[in-house]
Amino acid sequence: MAQIIDGKAISAAIRLEVKEAVSDWVAAGHRAPYLAVVLVGENPASASYVRGKAKAAAEVGIESDTLTYDASISEKDLQEIVDRLNQDDGVDGILIQLPLPDHIDERKVIGVLNPAKDVDCFHPESVGNLVIGIDGFAPATPAGIIELLVRSGIETTGKHCVIVGRSNIVGKPLANLMLRKGVDATVTVCHSRTQNLSEITKQADILVAAIGRANFVTEDMVKDGVVVIDVGINRVDDSTRERGYRLVGDVDFDAVSKKASHITPVPGGVGPMTIAVLLQNTFKAATN
Ligand code: NDP
Repeated sequence: MAQIIDGKAISAAIRLEVKEAVSDWVAAGHRAPYLAVVLVGENPASASYVRGKAKAAAEVGIESDTLTYDASISEKDLQEIVDRLNQDDGVDGILIQLPLPDHIDERKVIGVLNPAKDVDCFHPESVGNLVIGIDGFAPATPAGIIELLVRSGIETTGKHCVIVGRSNIVGKPLANLMLRKGVDATVTVCHSRTQNLSEITKQADILVAAIGRANFVTEDMVKDGVVVIDVGINRVDDSTRERGYRLVGDVDFDAVSKKASHITPVPGGVGPMTIAVLLQNTFKAATN
């Protein structure tokens, strides 16, 4: 039976580290780090994520405001707002909660961001730095996965890491982080056009599933002793739950955990790491 990689506990440890670092920083006479969160429209999921981020920031002594705008705001007005935040020396990190309304081109708004304040690592310059290995902000979910591996004592050097999923927010940046010197994995990235997928996943020492399909990775797709990181968050109907559904990952946890050496649960694995990395990045933005 696999050892569970406890994202909640690891995230709590990181938050405590950030809290202590912020406290030392403020005790040395600096102002508290400040994060500006830009929220457009009334997407309930976005509003809930933003509340979670603001609460987590407050708990570690990072100040933040959520700047909310009507869904009808123009692309130009939003660009101007981001630019004002860029110019404001009191703002260390800027987070633009995605998705933005359809009439706004996300790339044009993110493109205005000062990369030095881009704590989500979405600006093309931040992504370029990630690819060529310049130290900067690491994107939340992939950096959270590296933290999970490192803090669980999992060896990555020379290991074959197979990532299923090539999105810009998970698969591609994670491939770059896994390739970095110091992490030193050998990386294969798979996607919906990959042929003989299970032949490849069976070769993985570390398998990362970032697909968005419930229980997609089955026992016959992995080898004994694999380390499994399940990024997926999927709703499946469950009439025994009051809300009528439960969350599951992309991996058939019950069966795969019998073969794996380590595995992340869903929920409680990768999910809690995202906010922890955001807090790390905001502190870094304030102190750089
Ligand atoms: P995307 O939909 O952007 O990407 C999914 C990827 O999976 C694509 O590259 C797609 O291939 C690939 N894929 C789809 N079907 C198959 C298949 N049958 N075989 C092989 N590959 C396939 O998703 P995200 O990367 O944004 O998210 C992935 C999952 O992770 C979702 O469940 C999401 O909710 C979750 N997530 C969780 C986070 C967390 O904090 N825990 C953070 C971010 C995401 P192709 O490119 O060819 O279409």
